[in-house]
Amino acid sequence: MWLGESMPKKKHLGKSVPQTLKLMPHLVPKPLWGKSAANLLKRAAWDRIRRDALEAARRACQVCSDPASASDPCHELWEYDDERGTATLVGLRIQCRNCDSAVHMGRAVKRGFGNAAIAQLAKVNDIGLREAKMLYRSAMDEWKQRNKKQWRIAVAKSLLERYAELAVLEPITDPTLF
Ligand SMILES: [Zn+2]
Repeated sequence: MWLGESMPKKKHLGKSVPQTLKLMPHLVPKPLWGKSAANLLKRAAWDRIRRDALEAARRACQVCSDPASASDPCHELWEYDDERGTATLVGLRIQCRNCDSAVHMGRAVKRGFGNAAIAQLAKVNDIGLREAKMLYRSAMDEWKQRNKKQWRIAVAKSLLERYAELAVLEPITDPTLF
């Protein structure tokens, strides 16, 4: 059992991708491309959120703890509810370039950095390269399924309370969801 005790289900990786690993590939479903806070917010509003996140992270990568620079990416953490078809922005995370490359594995592979991204995924999660590749493959399968769906966007209440401007992401707010 390569994932040790942190693995929530003792199933193979096909369907249940463990969420307890530090670093996971995040492939944005195609219908949601461009629908990010970074894209949809006014520049000044996003810059303020980024600055807050960087300060909260104490200028270190929030995944691997390597030093982070002011220009390092502020990653949007999205949760996908496949049954309801809801994508929820649940948090923000400062991550170094190496971790960012592993998270955006699809992009890294396209640009020829696939091996480096897999290596980072293995290193940070303390798993083998083979397992890291399996994680990526499993994320790809999940992504293909998610590409076929329609998605509604939501923002976690705690984030909305802090940054009202994030409401621009969710055209219809259903308070019963939270
Ligand atoms: Zn990192």
